[in-house]
Amino acid sequence: MLGVPVHDVTLCQACDIAEALIQRGGAYQFATVNPEFIMAAQRDPEFMALLQQTALNVPDGVGVLWAARRLGQPLRERVAGVDLVQALCGMASAHRWRTFFLGAQPGVAERAAARMAERFPGLMICGTFAGTPREEDAPAIVKRIANCKPQLLFVAYGAPAQDKWLARHLREVLVGEQGLVGVGVGGAFDFIAGVQQRAPLWMQRAGLEWLHRLVRQPWRWRRQLALIRFVFAVLLESARKP
Ligand code: UDP
Repeated sequence: MLGVPVHDVTLCQACDIAEALIQRGGAYQFATVNPEFIMAAQRDPEFMALLQQTALNVPDGVGVLWAARRLGQPLRERVAGVDLVQALCGMASAHRWRTFFLGAQPGVAERAAARMAERFPGLMICGTFAGTPREEDAPAIVKRIANCKPQLLFVAYGAPAQDKWLARHLREVLVGEQGLVGVGVGGAFDFIAGVQQRAPLWMQRAGLEWLHRLVRQPWRWRRQLALIRFVFAVLLESARKP
């Protein structure tokens, strides 16, 4: 989609892919792609290149589903970052994967992890840390995470910071032969910890979650202008297609 690969996976399939990759061994990056990602990547070659190299890009946002239909390659379902985190935690508790929560404001990763551990007994939280996406802080953060030997690493610094952090450092976190999946999860910890309220189900189903976020966090309006540019770019692209 405008140069960014978006995979046609359901939430269940995304979890199955994570399971297969962790069993295979090595480090794999997942991204939760929404229209803001795609527009940011048009102007940021590093972001575009990394999104072309991730193991999995799930379609996060109704805008992506609309664009896929418009471009003649419909996607089956929206896979929201917050839903992916919860489903992967469920899977992690069944498989005893060590799970690390990195990012968000101080205390939020801890609270999100505690909520997940309550919901999924047996979930092995091997560490939580707010940290920062700054490069000068990365060596200490990498060391801290590597010491915990996670198989699942969630990074919540918002896009593109979290995705660049993973592209630069995920391999450094990997210890030995184990498998490791790193996922950029945006505001997922805020929702899980209850710092931000998620849109009611009817709004999610009506494809209006973005509107709920805009009303709750009005400072987002400037970022959400990307949605309008995205619609125009997709219409232009679909008009160009034979
Ligand atoms: N965040 C952070 N450090 C930063 C910038 C952002 O920990 O330097 C966190 C922020 O607290 C939030 C998360 O990144 O929990 C995602 O932010 P946002 O809601 O903007 O991301 P989106 O879901 O829109 O990608």
